[in-house]
Amino acid sequence: MNVYDTERMVDVMAPQGYEETDTPENADLVVLNTCHIREKAAEKVYSDIGRIRKIKDKKNGAGEEMVLAVGGCVAQAEGAEIMKRAPIVDMVFGPQTYHNLPKMVTNSLALKSRGEKSRILDTDLAVDEKFEQLSKNKVKGKATAFLTIQEGCDKFCTFCVVPYTRGSEFSRSIDDVMSDARKLAEAGVVEVTLLGQNVNAFHGVSATGEEWGLPQLIREIAKINGFERIRYTTSHPHDMTEDLIKVHGDTPECMPYLHLPVQAGSDKVLKAMNRTHDSASYKNIISDLRKIRPDIALSGDFIVGFPGETDEDFEQTMELVRDVKYAQAFSFKYSPRPGTPAAIMDNQVDEFVSSERLTRLQALLKQQQIDFNNSVVGKTLPVLIEGLGKTQGTVFGRSPYMQAVQIFVREINATDLQGKIVDVIIKEAGPFNIQGVLA
Ligand code: SAH
Ligand code: SF4
Repeated sequence: MNVYDTERMVDVMAPQGYEETDTPENADLVVLNTCHIREKAAEKVYSDIGRIRKIKDKKNGAGEEMVLAVGGCVAQAEGAEIMKRAPIVDMVFGPQTYHNLPKMVTNSLALKSRGEKSRILDTDLAVDEKFEQLSKNKVKGKATAFLTIQEGCDKFCTFCVVPYTRGSEFSRSIDDVMSDARKLAEAGVVEVTLLGQNVNAFHGVSATGEEWGLPQLIREIAKINGFERIRYTTSHPHDMTEDLIKVHGDTPECMPYLHLPVQAGSDKVLKAMNRTHDSASYKNIISDLRKIRPDIALSGDFIVGFPGETDEDFEQTMELVRDVKYAQAFSFKYSPRPGTPAAIMDNQVDEFVSSERLTRLQALLKQQQIDFNNSVVGKTLPVLIEGLGKTQGTVFGRSPYMQAVQIFVREINATDLQGKIVDVIIKEAGPFNIQGVLA
């Protein structure tokens, strides 16, 4: 979602003549779009501010102006502290106010030109106004695009900051989503990924007065001419309804890939996390999905070392992973986040123990990813070409299962293939990508 938000920030600044640049040295405006989900991500902002500070000082010394903004969830959670700790920062804004960026930049420059200090803080959490503003932006034609349909969360998992930084659960109106989707298709987008912190909690009322959830929305978006692939992320097991599972069988545009975080395999830990699902209900969802779409690739998120997690609890996570067999996964050491209930639980797990568990879990997940990638060697897969590959004579694309695919094309003009879905014979597989040639 931060990638999506960053793209929208570029969009809102475009009418003012701003465009993206590769290096901060060239920038009149630097925005650090931050993540607060784990401590490591949140701490990064201060080292980044330090790095930008040097460039900003140098520019100021040469009589040039640079506006430094901190946006995103760290800004939302620690806005006042950032202002205090880093006087070099001109403005701080949260994930729900970045549509005001042009106004904030104008104000900042006006203050500076009067020789005053620019100190702007905008961390309101109301969401509607943001989307209304963003819908006015022009869309760029690319092969793939994100489309936010839902934001925030009311689930309050005891480890998580999202409900506090992104605000409460909010679904955009169906009219707005459909209109944005049509604009993307008209601009040549072939694959759309519907985004939300709890994307499958999406709900709304259609123009004809019907209640729609995510399944209906996917089916209607699939009818829009131009979209050949639809994905959605991130889903919560609690909202994985029977109908949403069915969509994977009745809507060919809905790709055979699902990111469905489970977090842990122990029911005791899941309860302490306030996850509202247990390992059995999670595994039932997976088996229902596989009945409908046997080839579906699964991805998940895991937290190890949650307060109170014993060796036995952790073994249950390993067991669940062996059972499910993931195509891809993200796993993290539990990170205590200020203001969340788990951070003050008195049974915190030793760092060393968590590290060991993480190493073991990651080795297993990596092996499963290799196994999954190997399972497609020799097959012909439809691959959506996103652009040039890193190595000369190659293009880069994605398989239906979200695998990164490197295709050797040699004499073919690679840009001709961009945005097209081509058949690729898969020749080799590694842990992070698969390689092949055009069929
Ligand atoms: N809404 C999604 C996840 C959003 S946060 C869901 O409920 O599944 C993305 C991932 O970050 C989570 O799935 C979790 O694995 C991880 N995460 C969140 N808070 C964390 C914390 N305090 N420590 C470690 N990992 C965390
Ligand atoms: Fe965080 Fe996801 Fe739980 Fe919401 S459902 S609190 S976003 S982990």
